[in-house]
Amino acid sequence: MISKGGSEALLTALVNTGRSFSPNYTLLLPLLHLLAKVGHRDRRIGVKAEDAGAALLTLNLLRHNVKHARRAAACLWVIQVFSSSVSTANLIGANHGLDVIYHLIPQYTTKHLHAIKAAIDAFAALLCTKANVCLVVSKGYVSGLLRLYEDWHAKATQHAAMAICHSLLRCLHKVTHSNAGKQAFVSQGGIRLLYVTTQTCLLSKGLESLVEPSVQLMRKCLPKTPLPLTSDRSAYTFLMPGRPHAVPDIDVEPDENSEESDDEEAEDNKDADFDDDLETDLSKLRLRPDPDRPKELLPQYNRLCPELSHDFQDLDLSSETEESSTASSSSSSDEEAALLNGLRFHSSRRGGGRSAASSDSSTSPSGSHSETDPEGHTPAAAQLEARDFHSHSSILSTSPSFRTKDREARQEQSFASLLRRSLLGANTKTAQLETQAVLLSSLEGLESRENRTRTSTALSVKPCCSQMRGFLKGIGDEAPLGQRGEDEDDEEEDADKSHHRTMIDRLLERHGACILHHEPKLYRAAAAKTKSIPGFSILAFPDFWGHLPPPGHESMAPRKPNIQRQKAFEDAQRFLTTDGIINQVVFDLEDSSLQCPSDSLRFFSKFECGNLRKAVQVRRYEYDLILNADANSSQHTQWFYFEVSNMVADVPYRFNVINCEKSNSQFNYGMQPVLYSVREALEGRPHWVRTGTEICYFRNHFCPARGRRRMTFYTLTFTITFKHNEDVCYLAYHYPYTYSALKAHLKVLQKSVDPAKVFFQQQVLCGTLAGNPCPVVTITACPASRSWIDMHQLRNRPYIMLTGRVHPGESNASWVMKGTLEFLCSSDPVAQSLREAFVFKLIPMLNPDGVVNGTNRCDLNSEDLNRQWCKPDPVLSPTIYHTKGLLYYLNSVGRTPLVFCDYHGHSRKKNVFLYGCSVKETLWQSGSAVNTVGLKEDPGYRTIPKTLDRLAPAFSFNSCNYLVEKSRSATARVVVWREMGVLRSYTLESTHNGCDQGIYKGLQTGTRELQEMGMKFCHSLLSVTKDVKGLYSHIDLDHNVLDHKSHNCFEDDEPPCVEEIEYSADCPALAGADLDSDINGNTASADEEEEGDEGCREVKHRRGSVGQSQQSSAKGRLFPHLMRQASAEMLGEKRNACNAVSVNRQVMS
Ligand SMILES: [Zn+2]
Repeated sequence: MISKGGSEALLTALVNTGRSFSPNYTLLLPLLHLLAKVGHRDRRIGVKAEDAGAALLTLNLLRHNVKHARRAAACLWVIQVFSSSVSTANLIGANHGLDVIYHLIPQYTTKHLHAIKAAIDAFAALLCTKANVCLVVSKGYVSGLLRLYEDWHAKATQHAAMAICHSLLRCLHKVTHSNAGKQAFVSQGGIRLLYVTTQTCLLSKGLESLVEPSVQLMRKCLPKTPLPLTSDRSAYTFLMPGRPHAVPDIDVEPDENSEESDDEEAEDNKDADFDDDLETDLSKLRLRPDPDRPKELLPQYNRLCPELSHDFQDLDLSSETEESSTASSSSSSDEEAALLNGLRFHSSRRGGGRSAASSDSSTSPSGSHSETDPEGHTPAAAQLEARDFHSHSSILSTSPSFRTKDREARQEQSFASLLRRSLLGANTKTAQLETQAVLLSSLEGLESRENRTRTSTALSVKPCCSQMRGFLKGIGDEAPLGQRGEDEDDEEEDADKSHHRTMIDRLLERHGACILHHEPKLYRAAAAKTKSIPGFSILAFPDFWGHLPPPGHESMAPRKPNIQRQKAFEDAQRFLTTDGIINQVVFDLEDSSLQCPSDSLRFFSKFECGNLRKAVQVRRYEYDLILNADANSSQHTQWFYFEVSNMVADVPYRFNVINCEKSNSQFNYGMQPVLYSVREALEGRPHWVRTGTEICYFRNHFCPARGRRRMTFYTLTFTITFKHNEDVCYLAYHYPYTYSALKAHLKVLQKSVDPAKVFFQQQVLCGTLAGNPCPVVTITACPASRSWIDMHQLRNRPYIMLTGRVHPGESNASWVMKGTLEFLCSSDPVAQSLREAFVFKLIPMLNPDGVVNGTNRCDLNSEDLNRQWCKPDPVLSPTIYHTKGLLYYLNSVGRTPLVFCDYHGHSRKKNVFLYGCSVKETLWQSGSAVNTVGLKEDPGYRTIPKTLDRLAPAFSFNSCNYLVEKSRSATARVVVWREMGVLRSYTLESTHNGCDQGIYKGLQTGTRELQEMGMKFCHSLLSVTKDVKGLYSHIDLDHNVLDHKSHNCFEDDEPPCVEEIEYSADCPALAGADLDSDINGNTASADEEEEGDEGCREVKHRRGSVGQSQQSSAKGRLFPHLMRQASAEMLGEKRNACNAVSVNRQVMS
């Protein structure tokens, strides 16, 4: 009907009939009804109505029929439908349509409900334009709407009144799209009103459906609150080479357009429509760009391919000799040192396969970058720590009146800080002495307090405390690692330290778990050399002590029904009342002298990978947490890792991370954060475990401290009930894996391999901006002999290059890499075959500086390193520059890798999957007109994903895709594919959550599953070898079966969240069917002049929903006397703003 010009015909008929002085309503009424039904389905009805002159005519009809409920209702529906066009809505608004309609909305009544509802719906529809919203706000109607809602809500016990309430809420939603509307809503007590009404709703099942829209409205209108920070910039600033000053804080500059625009809500952090993003330029897909650097720069990388020049003369000798021969090749020239920007490469003298380790130790600590550290962080940090501790002990000694409990709390705090300090040791001599002195005195204090406590209270935390104390004494007396400098390993420590060492050994023996490939002391030695912006002097316990995957699997957390609205409700309470609200800062990364109440939780995050900037105690058991932005940046928050102590057992603590940035999160789909308990570890359970209840993730009302007006934040809230009193626990976004852990791990691996069989070389790719060496590892099999044939086989092995952790927040990538590394070094026959078949080049951590400093996305340059691959800057993105250099080199010597894979983590999807690159699939998917028939493409890029689908339980082939997106043209995967011509160039994405298919369905991944994935990835490489094809026939090597199950995965593949994460989402529009049934109710009466309750009763019979309790049979005014005296007075008070009251009275009386 619409396509055949039906709307136009109806409009013409309406205009012709309605124009006459006394229209024939017998004709007009059905016409209006039909127009409303048809028009509702015609997107252009508004414009058409305007063109036909029907919009204002309908308004006039309404004016003339305010006393005729059914006629009025019909006009109102038509107006509602016309308002789908902004200009029509504005036209009606400008002609006082809003005033007319507003005054048709009465206080609670049982009569003419369909007409009243039609009025409210038409009012809401008109509020789709800014101009109309302004009108409504300026006339004070927001207040009126609120009172109407209050009144109707109070009496809304029947479905009919409920519908009115819903419609009123829809009006309020529309009004509050503008800031003026929000302000009016808040100043008129809207939040409190909704808070109170919602509380009654919660008590009554029948009112339940009002809760969600009310809570959404409250969330939306809570006034924007700036984060309690002095600057949005990261607390960590790194002075970039070549820049004399820190980057100016551009975000602080006031925005030109300081008034928030109304479309502020329409944030665009969703990916661009993927079809638009696909690369359809065939030349860009197929042609290789010119290299980004001259050929002359490539020979330097031959040092990173020791396997090509190694002669294996010493095949039978120890690995030491083997290593030194490598070292000589790696130290070949000064030129090289110059090229390896950022790292002062003095490794040659120290020699050895430890070239990586030794070169990093000889990397001058006074190198330009550390020297230019503007804050002089390192010594200051250590001293602050010591002072901090002093202050605690002085409180202890001068306040004898503290209850035992408080003392214990203090004491526990001391444990926490002692533990941390002693794990690494202070960085300077002075601080070291201070620390030791403090440590000794406090240990004595602890001793006596502990004895006292023991006599008074029978049981307490003492076993743990004394264990810790022993532990502390052992380490605390030891020379701090920072001081030991060149002492390579613990083995070389002198005799007088051995006593203390044995204490640590004893403790580790007694309480430490035997964790494969983890040695705490090696870890500490590695950590002592790690360079960080703040100069970390403390180790987090879990990193030092180690982690074992817990026995068994961990299910995804069930989502508690209505959890979000419950949390949002609690948040609204904070705005409305001060009862029980504490709002005290208890931790500030930038203020270590901060004092906090004795009974509050203690937080700490100044350690490797740590990220917590501020903690605010909101209520007794509730804390707001603010994450630190990426270094030199003011955004990218997501990753967190911090220590918490001084807790009471069995009490639910609510934590709110209030400055998350992503628009959705797997925390809404069963993911839990991870927790590590020191006490549990000392009792033999050193596990990171998934934990937390009442988890949800939703948009909040916080905004940046300064500037950046478009930025919106999300809250991750979770509740933790700690198992032990006064434990020291660590909480993280995902299983932490530090840079120091990688260094220590590589050392352990190096020791673990049989040098006669496994060629394992760790070298330094380059130094990072902060001066941390970026390790590159070569793993292959030693040749069986030095015979020509064996050496020839070795020299012709294809290369596999694997990289990872370019994004620091994706620690899962490191666990997968750990699995890969351990498998490749293992004695497993498959691993042996792989080593014989390939040369593996692994760069496990492309962004060490980011990892160390707890950033989420970027490096110290505040750039996403995985967007730098097109033309990486040698100074600013050295790891990418040199990784690409190594690839160019391999390319130039005819050894282009067979497979390249960059390990990542995915925060918004489940399972593990691969992204690859295919010209054909990209063109197909984009709907490009390019004829692909003649295009030849090797389908071999699908072999590995298909193999993984069978081998790896966590892997999902259906989540993979092979599309080349413009927005990702500078990522490792696309650049290596396009520029190096690597057919099998991938991004491996591992979920932070878990799987929704396979044997792990419904389970969260643990480190065990992640490591398994790393191993399975190696297994899948068998599918691309020719040599072992026969041996491993269980793997299907069929390249030709293409299956097209693959689908796009740019968006979350989660179903829409049950609860709206965004509060800005529009309230649900009135469905066509609803409007139809409303209209049908209106047509029920045979006699259109028969007004009053008859019609209503008819409706009641028909629909059983509207108007169930009309008793009056009195005919008369269609809109009964609406204004009760009180409300009239109330409105009268607002006469200034609401100069329509007189009109109101006219209309109503
Ligand atoms: Zn990533």
